[in-house]
Amino acid sequence: MAKYTGAKCRLCRREGEKLFLKGSRCYSEKCSITKRNQVPGQHGKTGFGFASDYSKHLREKQKTKRIYGLLEAQFRRYFQKASKVKGVTGQVLLQMLETRLDSALNRAGAASSMSMARQMVRQNKIRVNDSPVNIPSYQLSAGDVITVEDIKSKTSEDGKLPEWLGWDAKTKGIKIERLPERDEISYDINEQLIVEFYSR
Ligand code: SF4
Repeated sequence: MAKYTGAKCRLCRREGEKLFLKGSRCYSEKCSITKRNQVPGQHGKTGFGFASDYSKHLREKQKTKRIYGLLEAQFRRYFQKASKVKGVTGQVLLQMLETRLDSALNRAGAASSMSMARQMVRQNKIRVNDSPVNIPSYQLSAGDVITVEDIKSKTSEDGKLPEWLGWDAKTKGIKIERLPERDEISYDINEQLIVEFYSR
């Protein structure tokens, strides 16, 4: 499957904010945004410049796509699916992205970044409801339980699970208690701009 193979920090610098794509490095002083927050390329020093209305919408879409590590066609498909579901399209879109298997693993603290979560899934380390799953985009539903070998030490003990996730003591796994509410999705995303971008 096609994927972005360039420098991840470059993506953050393009959006002018941290997208947390590299795990612990993102919280250290080595973070490129902390050291040098400028647009990549030879004209980067001139700053982010005037942002047209179109550009604001485009950047919000690009930022969200990059946070979840998706390519354009994949992201567009999520939007199309979300627009067919009853509810507020932007919120449904974010809910769908948050409840991807790789995203939930990252959110639960079992993986320090989305790419690491994806790697764990591809290496057949993950089971959902006791069945092996090696598809990072696997869509989780309320009641599903994710298990992985050393997940206990990384999640249940430090108590950092978001409210929509729970610890299932019986199976020693992460339980999807319910779908996340909008205010439980911590990324600074204006989903309305994304909806407007695709509705032009
Ligand atoms: Fe982005 Fe993380 Fe690189 Fe900082 S270290 S620029 S947050 S990917």
